[in-house]
Amino acid sequence: MSKEIRAIKGMNDILPGESDTWQFFEATVRDWAAAYGYHNIRTPIVEETSLFVRSIGEVTDIVEKEMYSFEDSLNGDKLTLRPEGTASCLRAVIQHNLLHQGPQRLWYMGQMYRHERPQKGRYRQFHQVGVEALGFDGPDVDAELLLMTVSLWKRLGLQNLQLQLNSLGTSEERARHREALIAYLAQHQDTLDDDGKRRLYTNPLRVLDSKNPAMQAICDAAPKLVDYLGDASRQHFDTLQQLLTDCGVPFVINPRLVRGLDYYNLTVFEWVTNELGSQGTVCGGGRYDGLVEQLGGKPTAACGFGMGVERLLLLLEAQRITPPVERPDVYLVHQGTNIGSYVMQTAEMLREQGLKVILHGGQASFKSQMKKADASGARFAAIIGENEAISKTVSIKPLLGEGAQQIVEQSQAVSLIKQ
Ligand code: ATP
Ligand code: MG
Repeated sequence: MSKEIRAIKGMNDILPGESDTWQFFEATVRDWAAAYGYHNIRTPIVEETSLFVRSIGEVTDIVEKEMYSFEDSLNGDKLTLRPEGTASCLRAVIQHNLLHQGPQRLWYMGQMYRHERPQKGRYRQFHQVGVEALGFDGPDVDAELLLMTVSLWKRLGLQNLQLQLNSLGTSEERARHREALIAYLAQHQDTLDDDGKRRLYTNPLRVLDSKNPAMQAICDAAPKLVDYLGDASRQHFDTLQQLLTDCGVPFVINPRLVRGLDYYNLTVFEWVTNELGSQGTVCGGGRYDGLVEQLGGKPTAACGFGMGVERLLLLLEAQRITPPVERPDVYLVHQGTNIGSYVMQTAEMLREQGLKVILHGGQASFKSQMKKADASGARFAAIIGENEAISKTVSIKPLLGEGAQQIVEQSQAVSLIKQ
């Protein structure tokens, strides 16, 4: 026997039992996005590597060590499997000149790829739902996006999520803060880990994003960006907070929240839970007003967020939220010679009238087919033998609760079942 081929490490199959929850999640997301006037956009999974380097930033975890990049063996192009969705979304918006038609509200859902150490809630192929509002300078849109996330948690039935908020100000404000931060971190060089030392001068803000427990104390005491905000940034942040408070959305300010991507300004936020161990961030986002221009478009205000679908599904599981089970209406049991076409036509007729019908496949004893019918969870068995085929009838037997078996004309079967 040849060696069994298995899925790539950190890339999961979603099997039938689990896919029910996925479909429930996806349907909920589609309705939710539509309720806010967002339109779906779908972009390729592979893009030019430079798209991600230019947007996410050279000195970030993603670009430094997590991207699946390769050369096209036919023409040598440098390509990358998308690690997130915003860059591709904006690339498409710019390429097709969508902003020419006015501001855009867009959403997407799909696979992302990051070469990380796989663990619960952290995979190499995972899924994100992303939402981008392009052409609105906020802070009212920032607030609406946050209300939108709250609404999704409600629709899914999720509880106990905490909203953390921060402002990254403008690039000038970050530059002033950066000087102070470098001076501070330089004083503590000896306590910095390798990443910290390396980023001290290239991307010191990123040092604050460290997950290393040994770095927490030094990061907590570092100069805070909030203290470097100018009047306009301060005002933007205050108005956002006021709107959230007025709308009854609780939040905490986390001055160390900087996000793992370089393109953010002003508002940044994360939704976190303590029910998923260290993979507790289920949603992250903020404002990235410079990114459209940086990628070759016209200057455009922009704000959005991405959610980790696997983490949200793990949270549904942790909170024991299960989607409604989809039962078949009918399991069609059949036995006899030369009745195949009548059996199939009957099944098609029932389906055309809106019923979910499982047609027993292959030959088996009546008893074993009835066992399968019970196991399928169907509400009714429809039974066809040679007599039924000749008289163009069907026997209907309720499988749940009481009720006698009845023979009806084929055309009457649906109304009996729907009763
Ligand atoms: P983390 O700090 O957990 O690595 P991140 O800041 O890298 O997350 P983002 O780039 O903000 O994550 O992506 C948005 C969301 O996508 C995250 O909040 C998380 O829910 C999810 N996510 C990110 N990386 C992974 C992964 N490797 N596996 C599963 N979900 C992920
Ligand atoms: Mg990460």
